[in-house]
Parts: sequence; structure tokens; C-alpha cells
Amino acid sequence: MDYRLTEMFSSLQGEGRWTGRPATFIRFASCNLACPWCDTPRSAKAKTLSLAAVLEKVDALGDRGVIVTGGEPTIQPHLGALVRALKQRGLWVALETNGLVDAPELALFDHVAASPKAAYAARYRGGRHLTRANEVRIVAENANVADFCREMRARIQADDWYISPLDDGKGRIHYRRAHQLLAKLNADLPAGETPWMLSIQTHKVLGMR
Ligand code: SF4
Repeated sequence: MDYRLTEMFSSLQGEGRWTGRPATFIRFASCNLACPWCDTPRSAKAKTLSLAAVLEKVDALGDRGVIVTGGEPTIQPHLGALVRALKQRGLWVALETNGLVDAPELALFDHVAASPKAAYAARYRGGRHLTRANEVRIVAENANVADFCREMRARIQADDWYISPLDDGKGRIHYRRAHQLLAKLNADLPAGETPWMLSIQTHKVLGMR
């Protein structure tokens, strides 16, 4: 049983509900989307590791939690076997997904963070996206993302809702746009609803991976 990965490393979760939590990141190699600002560009060099080799590396890094991220984990073969093996070690296992695929393996994770992408809004109307997550984070890709945010909120059940500033990969992080979007979305929310919150990439602020 093999996995195509770009990297495994120990760091802190930088975004969302579990910001600051130490974890081992397992970064898969390929994705079903192609966002221009992606942390895992298609050119990233992938390597193939057996399940035993992945677990050995997890053991060596020694974190109590693992975050499975991308590329897109839900399109990878044998995802369930990996999650089960990690859970058998007593580890907390979280998933970062673009939410395009409602994979049965989602139920195995302790925490699911979905990040639907507005640039691919039409793909999320195909009826296969996930409908339940612990948290949803949407990148403020441009000034017109508000309708997509509302649409996702109507279609997905989640405990927490975040807006992430766009890091354009050219040295700019668009905080102001994210804040403006946040204010616009919260102004429309019915009383008593959990507000949209800001999620910044804390690991980048700290100069970490
Ligand atoms: S969905 Fe995530 S992993 Fe896939 S291309 Fe976009 S940013 Fe990269």
C-alpha cells in the first residue's frame, strides 16, 4: 500500500479552530483543483512511500496529532487504511480538504476542515461535495466571494466558519479584503448564528512551514 506525498514535517496548525496545535503534517501530492496560490504546486516533487514508511516517519516526528492535507487527500488511494493505522496509535487525526468529494473516509477523522474554493464554484454544484464538516474556511480570493460563502453555508453543516486572507504568492497577503468580506457576511447573518471569523496563517507569521 503506497502513498504519493510531497512532504511530511512537524509544525503547528496555523489556521482555524486548532490554531497553535502541534502536529505532523502529511502532505499529499495531487489535487482535483488547481488554485494559482496553492501551497502544493503541481511542480512539487512527489515521492512514493509505503504505509509502513509513513508510520515510521510519524513515529520519529513524535507529535500526538496528525494533519492530513494536500494536495487533496480524499482522492488518494488507501486513505482509510492510513487513518485507521494512525488512530490505532492513539493519535488525533485531522483532515484538510477542499470539500469537493464527500468521501466515506471523512467519518474516520477526529476533525474535518473544509476549504471550498470560489474559483471553482460550478464544481461545487455537482452534488458530490461534503455536507458536514467541523469547520469551513473560505479564502477571500477576490471581492466577489460573498455569494459563494453564503451558498456554502446553506449547503454545509459546520460548527465554525472562517474567512482566510489570500496569500497571492507574490509577497502580499490581502488582509483588508478578508476583513471587508467578514464584515459583509456577518451583517447579513440572522441573530444567534455563529459569526464568520478571521483565520490567518499563523505559521507564516511565525516563519514556520
Ligand atoms: S484545493 Fe488546496 S491543494 Fe488543491 S489546488 Fe487548491 S489550494 Fe492547492
